[in-house]
Amino acid sequence: MKVEASEYFDTLIRPILAQEGDQLPVSAFDPRGFVETGTTKYEKRGIAVKVPEWIPENCIQCGQCSLVCPHACIRPILVKEGTEKPEGFVVAPKTIGKELAGYQYRMQVSPLDCTGCGNCVEVCPAKTKALEMKPLDEQRKEEKNWEFAMKLPKPEVQINPATVKGSQFLQPLFEFSGACAGCGETPYVKLVTQLFGDRMMIANATGCSSIYGGSAPTCPYTTNEKGQGPAWANSLFEDNAEFGFGMNLATAQRRAKLAENVEKLIAVEWAQQAIKDAGKEWLENMDDAEGSRAAGEKLLAACKDGIDMTGVGRRPAHQEVHLDLRRRRLGL
Ligand code: SF4
Ligand code: SF4
Ligand code: SF4
Repeated sequence: MKVEASEYFDTLIRPILAQEGDQLPVSAFDPRGFVETGTTKYEKRGIAVKVPEWIPENCIQCGQCSLVCPHACIRPILVKEGTEKPEGFVVAPKTIGKELAGYQYRMQVSPLDCTGCGNCVEVCPAKTKALEMKPLDEQRKEEKNWEFAMKLPKPEVQINPATVKGSQFLQPLFEFSGACAGCGETPYVKLVTQLFGDRMMIANATGCSSIYGGSAPTCPYTTNEKGQGPAWANSLFEDNAEFGFGMNLATAQRRAKLAENVEKLIAVEWAQQAIKDAGKEWLENMDDAEGSRAAGEKLLAACKDGIDMTGVGRRPAHQEVHLDLRRRRLGL
């Protein structure tokens, strides 16, 4: 199946997947060694003999199948009531959970990304199983439903990410890796990215996790709608702890520098009150995961709105803060 993909995928990855990588000129590669992330979603390998079919009337909407899937290719989908859906995009007769009011529930499979391991069927706790393995060819119709489901807007619901069911409504930022069918390691990697992936840094030790996580030419780590996702780098076995510790020290240093810049900024007499308030809030919350996120967004917005750079020669503290926040968001 030929899917619409990025230019990077078409010009660099496709030839390598077709065993024609030796035809590519050296200049096709980024000299810094950077690769585009989120490219496994274009592969559509179709390697499964059988893939699961969802049986809505049996489903208790627990999310366990999605949790255990090593390849993130079965996901619970919430569709706002009244949304026009493609034919065959069947939803559950009733959505379970008052926090999901106004939405319809569906468990969506991506047949061409599935490896056919059957873990999802095995774990399904419904009285009568709500998943059944069916020949891949019978399930190809689900591809267009998957495409539709992936484009649906993010549901506006209050889910509890600390529950199995709630966590599975979060976007996996690790998907369709080349791990073996039924891998017991990747469901955990996937879950961690669902919970923390937008700000995650991975100091990967060489092993399966470097093969399915970072082998050429595709990358299973991906980003959310804001372009945020895990930053990944690999180190050899014996020095991995030091490698990760170095990443930690570097991040701590950059945060300390950012805090210093924010302190300088809010001390500027003529700085706008909104910037001073947001800066103070960020300093108070910088070590709190959710607090720093909210205050950081306020500070960034205040800096964007409230800076008059006319006649300023040297880059002032407030611009440093703005740039620091931007770099940190981009993982640079
Ligand atoms: S069969 Fe395996 S890979 Fe396919 S959806 Fe189920 S758990 Fe995921
Ligand atoms: S594990 Fe079974 S019952 Fe639970 S959500 Fe998946 S299909 Fe439904
Ligand atoms: S060998 Fe590696 S990729 Fe394969 S199942 Fe085991 S941990 Fe997963």
